[in-house]
Amino acid sequence: MVNAIIFGAPGSGKGTYASRLQSPLEVDVIATGDIFREIMKEENPLGTKVKSYVEKGLLVPDNVVIEVIKQRLAKIPKGKGFILDGYPRTIEQAKNLSKIVKIDLVIQLIVPDWIIIERLSTRRICKNCGAVYNTRYLKPKVEGICDKCGGPLYQRSDDTPEVIKNRIDVYERQTQPILRFYKEAGVPIIDFKTESPEMPPEVAVEKILNGLKKLQLF
Ligand SMILES: [Zn+2]
Repeated sequence: MVNAIIFGAPGSGKGTYASRLQSPLEVDVIATGDIFREIMKEENPLGTKVKSYVEKGLLVPDNVVIEVIKQRLAKIPKGKGFILDGYPRTIEQAKNLSKIVKIDLVIQLIVPDWIIIERLSTRRICKNCGAVYNTRYLKPKVEGICDKCGGPLYQRSDDTPEVIKNRIDVYERQTQPILRFYKEAGVPIIDFKTESPEMPPEVAVEKILNGLKKLQLF
């Protein structure tokens, strides 16, 4: 059983890897974006509270965020661990988290900027069903048309090289102190480096699992 946090810049493949690690590691993947969307649909005090911030466009305060995480962690079946994606984003949050659960491992995805820029600037999304394509690595059968639903594909307005570079910088500034926090706390960190934009996800996942084996966590 392993409790892990995964860190990676936007476009690092974080979501893909986390979901593929789910079954070999027997963990729940907890993506904060998803749990916030879920909880806002719930008719309970916590859901209503979260909604009141989000609807006003305000940042949900740390003490509320940790409650949401706590509630989700409590739903993990006995004997199962988790991979947390999207949390913690500050040292304060990391400290709060360490008060409620033990973290065994941090997975850091290291992807060179040029690969992220190439991946995201060639990304196309279906307007209708949200399916994700790539004009180089994952082409639709017909250009500009979704294979699954026939909807039109578009490029997100913030998927441009300059904006992507800025998002990577923000991510780095935010994440480096948190990684230092875990290092100082003695939590093992697996660094996984992507060297080519064509690397198949199964190869990446295999390498991450090998890292866990070395630490005797898998
Ligand atoms: Zn579609």
